[in-house]
Amino acid sequence: MKSLEELTRPNIWRLTPYSSARDEYSGHVARVFLDANESPYNQPYNRYPDPMQTAVKEQLARVKGIPVDRIFLGNGSDEAIDLVYRCFTRSGIDNVVAIEPTYGMYKVCADINDIQYRKVLLDDQFQLSADKLLRVCDANTKVIWLCTPNNPTGNALNRGEVERVIQEFDGLVVVDEAYSDFSKEKTFRHEIVRYPNLIVLNTMSKAWGCAAIRLGMAFASKEIISLFNRVKYPYNINDLTQKEALKVLSNPYEVDKQVKLILQERVRVIDAFRLLPCCEKTYPTDANFFLAKMDNAQRIYDYLVNEGIIVRNRTHVSLCNDCLRITIGTKTENNELLSALRQYKG
Ligand SMILES: *Cc1c(COP(=O)(O)O)cnc(C)c1O
Repeated sequence: MKSLEELTRPNIWRLTPYSSARDEYSGHVARVFLDANESPYNQPYNRYPDPMQTAVKEQLARVKGIPVDRIFLGNGSDEAIDLVYRCFTRSGIDNVVAIEPTYGMYKVCADINDIQYRKVLLDDQFQLSADKLLRVCDANTKVIWLCTPNNPTGNALNRGEVERVIQEFDGLVVVDEAYSDFSKEKTFRHEIVRYPNLIVLNTMSKAWGCAAIRLGMAFASKEIISLFNRVKYPYNINDLTQKEALKVLSNPYEVDKQVKLILQERVRVIDAFRLLPCCEKTYPTDANFFLAKMDNAQRIYDYLVNEGIIVRNRTHVSLCNDCLRITIGTKTENNELLSALRQYKG
């Protein structure tokens, strides 16, 4: 791996971060707060939230088995994705490499930051080749984007190939594990101690059932986390979000139960899809959704919208011609989808 200084944008490396009123008194027991121009009324929301989200990170450290100083919290994983570009890539100079197809935000953030985005097609089983990926990298490739289980394909990437990419690439590798709670594969987040160039993303938006609160996270070396913390907005996670996260994280067994139910339903819905005349095949999945190849994805999508049922049409995505991406819902929701499809006349 190149040194972190070589990989970081020089202006970010030199940055003096904003120092908030609350940052400066730490270490003392305070009773009266007249430092931040807050109103004394409308408690508790008159006060700025904890800029470093210490209580939430302490809970996450227990739940995820990662130390507090290796956790960054963002306004969704989307904030962490954007921060990777803002910390490490120089527009008009650097580039990033990503598997294709994958989650759309890596490309959107590349475009916003004016960074060249190089796509490397997965094979027909939606697997990556470390060699193919490494071959398109050059001296200005700063980041490789991987997502496992991958969206929209649903499958976990081959672990050996992912490890080879991390070991052989001299820049940063991001492994997005938004769906890892649904997968039997071993998580990559514990590998951050072995690989200083690895950044693992996680989110409260999927298995944890908290898409509305916008809370995503990155796990990485202390040095990378401290760069993210310097560049983020000072109060990027609001107090309502921190409170709800603490509540949900205090009951991980509830989430385990929900994940089990979703996985049971996944088997049932996929089996039923295979019997549908309009379904050509379903692809293996390690997530809370699956990809199904249909006889005419656009027509079926339009038909379902008319029935008030929304799935994701992925027909224009590389390698996903005529594919719909189906999220697993409750038993009742899944039955609605299945009965609508049984009544569909192609
Ligand atoms: C849904 C999803 C996310 C979650 O993004 P948030 O901003 O945390 O809601 C991240 N990565 C992938 C691949 C996803 O599918």
